[in-house]
Amino acid sequence: MAEYVGAVDQGTTSTRFMIFDHGGNEVARHQLEHEQILPQAGWVEHDPVEIWERTSSVIQSGLSKAKLKASDLVALGITNQRETTVVWDKNTGQPYYNAIVWQDTRTDRIASKLERDGHGDLIRRKAGLPPATYFSGGKIQWILENVDGVREAAEAGDAIFGNTDSWLIWNLTGGTDGGVHVTEPTNASRTMLMDLETLEWDDELLALFDIPRAMLPEIRSSSEPEGYGTTRANGPLRGEVKLTGILGDQQAATVGQVCFAPGEAKNTYGTGNFMLLNTGTELVRSESGLLTTVCYKFGDDAPVYALEGSIAVTGSAVQWLRDQLGIISGAAQSESLARQVDDNGGVYFVPAFSGLFAPYWRSDARGAIVGLSRFNTNAHLARATLESICYQSRDVAEAMEKDSGVTLEVLKVDGGVTANELCMQIQADVLGVEVSRPVVAETTALGAAYAAGLAVGFWNNTDELRENWNEAKRWSPQWDDEQREAGYTQWKKAVTRTLDWVD
Ligand code: ADP
Repeated sequence: MAEYVGAVDQGTTSTRFMIFDHGGNEVARHQLEHEQILPQAGWVEHDPVEIWERTSSVIQSGLSKAKLKASDLVALGITNQRETTVVWDKNTGQPYYNAIVWQDTRTDRIASKLERDGHGDLIRRKAGLPPATYFSGGKIQWILENVDGVREAAEAGDAIFGNTDSWLIWNLTGGTDGGVHVTEPTNASRTMLMDLETLEWDDELLALFDIPRAMLPEIRSSSEPEGYGTTRANGPLRGEVKLTGILGDQQAATVGQVCFAPGEAKNTYGTGNFMLLNTGTELVRSESGLLTTVCYKFGDDAPVYALEGSIAVTGSAVQWLRDQLGIISGAAQSESLARQVDDNGGVYFVPAFSGLFAPYWRSDARGAIVGLSRFNTNAHLARATLESICYQSRDVAEAMEKDSGVTLEVLKVDGGVTANELCMQIQADVLGVEVSRPVVAETTALGAAYAAGLAVGFWNNTDELRENWNEAKRWSPQWDDEQREAGYTQWKKAVTRTLDWVD
């Protein structure tokens, strides 16, 4: 009897395969990194073939670690880095170009032209997004315009687009031999091409980017009782498993954190940070620089929406301390270094490496370290880096309260940076709210497993999932209000120093 659910988490830096039991406990995992290809300033690419190979390897290793086989899995779910764009030839299975990653800013001219030409409001109204380099639409347009032969192939229906969810499902279900070309609303809501109300590709938006409809995947639900397809016996699972759940990574983490009621929110601290607030079946349009996005759509139920605050650089600022400055040898050392000092020594670091995302949406911003005096050391810079993660989260939390009227009482957190206890304490201090981390930190993979398992009745309903959530650790604010507000005022001032930097 099958007793487990599998989940592939295709992230920005690595791909994980995880197996969960009915209690939502981890049974096994395997994880492999893939190359970050940086051909020039502002460009970030991945090799889709490498991602598929890594996915195949982690599935095989995960199953063998757990001594399980395909028939032990009731279903398979997929979660993925959103927006990252793959265009491939459905006849050969070969990508036309590397995947253009969500962080890539090569489409800044496309994005600013849309705004200049007065199309920004249409995109905001229909797709819930501001025109920005972040989303897939401009990336697809760039490939159509810059890679020979793709436009003709796309018009003929041979060149097809997908985020990495679609790319992996197409490969898992047979590739050139009958692979299915599908996605679901949480991923599609990040393309600037889907109407948030109808959950369908929108002709007016497609026309703005000059994207042929024939290249787009079919939009199904995030949790499909019938399944999108079945894995092939000659594929990495060596057997047939129904694929029944897909969620973009941040929506998956929201589901993994069981934020099923309106007003419930989570913040994920990875390469970047992503705070999502469930707004229920109501579509809340942001006035404060947040995104309106689909949180999940389970089967035939009405879609549930979310407000999202996306921050481009948080954990990757810690990587920058390690890789570019060389002041730490590993991410965890950011904590011990920052602990050498009691405060930031007046230093504020705004890591606007690729502009600022929410709530500013300023592609003209670039990073700044301000407030330096000769007294400052590496330790202050490490502390300022951790604080930047927390202050950026406060910017987003404030916008969320403004848009939704919901006052945050507890912030549920997850992601790689939450291993940093000091950073989580600073987060509680900077926000003035409790911060809570669950036992199962892999909420992204868990959310995909939940979507897949709900579809096949492995879990009956979301109440059952709530029972699986347990707190591992909680941080309470220690700063007084005066200290909190003084620090935040300085932070806001530091942010102004980063704006209008590039034309
Ligand atoms: P993603 O899913 O975006 O690849 P993860 O959730 O795996 O990200 O988190 C990885 C990020 O967390 C990296 O950017 C890394 O610098 C950061 N990170 C990991 N451990 C720590 C730590 N102890 N302190 C601060 N940052 C950390």
